[in-house]
Amino acid sequence: MRDGKVPDWIVHICVAYLVCRILYFKYPLFNSANTTLAMVGALLPDIIKLQIIFSQIGIDLTDFLPVFHIPITSFLMAGVISLFFENKKIAFLFLVIGAISHFAMDSLLFDIGEGMYLFFPFSWQSFHMDLIPPDDYWITLFILTLTFLVYLLGLWIQKYQNIPVDKETVD
Ligand SMILES: [Zn+2]
Repeated sequence: MRDGKVPDWIVHICVAYLVCRILYFKYPLFNSANTTLAMVGALLPDIIKLQIIFSQIGIDLTDFLPVFHIPITSFLMAGVISLFFENKKIAFLFLVIGAISHFAMDSLLFDIGEGMYLFFPFSWQSFHMDLIPPDDYWITLFILTLTFLVYLLGLWIQKYQNIPVDKETVD
């Protein structure tokens, strides 16, 4: 498991944003409110890293990290969080999209040590592809740049097509 380095939080948030922002070019459902939900969802699998706070008061949650870093737990958390939203289905959908983008990135990019139990409860088989070494900050830089470019492209398209900044959600 990586030690809660800030850059991967940024990468996870950016990737969720990227996926939603690109889809928003075609689908109004991926508006900024829902994109924000996906960005929150992208942090759920690593929520246990908040233990940095708990460790200050002597509570060690490290042993629970694998429990949180599996899709089924993230989906359950997404379910609970979505209860606080008026449109629970949409909230759940976007939190889950975010969480999935997290696991996709982790399995592609980050060596998180023991890997992930992606297929729990069906299998305890740990999984990751290790395509890029964990300390490769170029990927962070690349994703930040890409996010910025897509953001600019969005602004440019809105300007020239005269699309209102945030189309209403169609559900
Ligand atoms: Zn992770």
